[in-house]
Amino acid sequence: MTATVIDGKAFAAKVRGQVAEHVTRIKEENGITPGLAVVLVGEDPASQVYVRSKGKMTVECGMNSFEHKLDVDTSEEDLLALLDKLNADPAVHGILVQLPLPGHLNEDLVINRIDPAKDVDGFHISNVGLLSTGQKSMVPCTPLGCLMMLRDHHGSLSGLNAVVVGRSNIVGKPMANLLLRDSCTVTIAHSRTKDIQEVCKQADIVVAAVGRAEMVTGDWIKPGATVIDVGINRIDAPEKGEGKTRLVGDCDYASCAEVAGAITPVPGGVGPMTIACLLANTLTACCRANGLSEPEGLTA
Ligand code: NDP
Repeated sequence: MTATVIDGKAFAAKVRGQVAEHVTRIKEENGITPGLAVVLVGEDPASQVYVRSKGKMTVECGMNSFEHKLDVDTSEEDLLALLDKLNADPAVHGILVQLPLPGHLNEDLVINRIDPAKDVDGFHISNVGLLSTGQKSMVPCTPLGCLMMLRDHHGSLSGLNAVVVGRSNIVGKPMANLLLRDSCTVTIAHSRTKDIQEVCKQADIVVAAVGRAEMVTGDWIKPGATVIDVGINRIDAPEKGEGKTRLVGDCDYASCAEVAGAITPVPGGVGPMTIACLLANTLTACCRANGLSEPEGLTA
């Protein structure tokens, strides 16, 4: 079998188009422009690239983008004061603090200072609690993107066996909660899981969020299963020339694609969906803040 490729890049473009359409409508009908504030502390090159691309896509969707770039040695007090200001600003509907933060800043304290209604990353402890109790919340962008692709591919997920490899707070755990909410039978595997290959082999859906290049291979996958590869790993690529690198996922694409029914590639799978879902979450937060109907199909 050769797997169907789930094209995250095309799907993300569609989601961004839906967001843009909805934004145009609420601008015209309600005179409201959704706004996303992104806070970057320090000059980590990867974070700078992410922030730039988030800002660009926010504007392309017709929303306001507010970028706050702070020095690497910004004090916790100053950062918290900025968040208080953004929490109180009615033009700001979503707030994202780019992680990781420099070591002297307490990430939990900072994230939990964001108004949960504006927490478009879905990391605030209130949103974590709401999601795990099945209530309306802001949902972390990467798992939301995975869920959208799975729903689109399968229709109903009810009754399917899903294995999430990885138990991080930003991907693995919220992903498992979302799949449970869609009535999958969910197993979370991690570094201490015994016979992880056999565990994965039982799954109709495998979501790999591990951070280990090409760890999941085709012989872990049940024939016809769906593989969602969250991983982003940079490895040496001598075939492209000396010192060159390339991006790979947590799944070995070639061997998994031979067995799976469907698979997301890296790059071009989950990655683009993450930013699209950030924009969708900002729109959702804006609609909720203003008592407007939420965009259909763009929330969990
Ligand atoms: P973390 O490092 O926070 O978590 C990794 C998880 O994988 C842990 O739960 C760990 O288990 C588990 N793990 C590690 N080694 C093994 C192993 N050998 N066997 C089984 N489980 C293992 O990573 P994140 O969740 O933040 O990210 C995971 C991957 O997803 C990374 O490649 C990251 O770059 C990528 N990512 C991609 C995004 C996107 O937009 N596409 C967004 C966010 C992340 P334990 O808890 O036992 O240590």
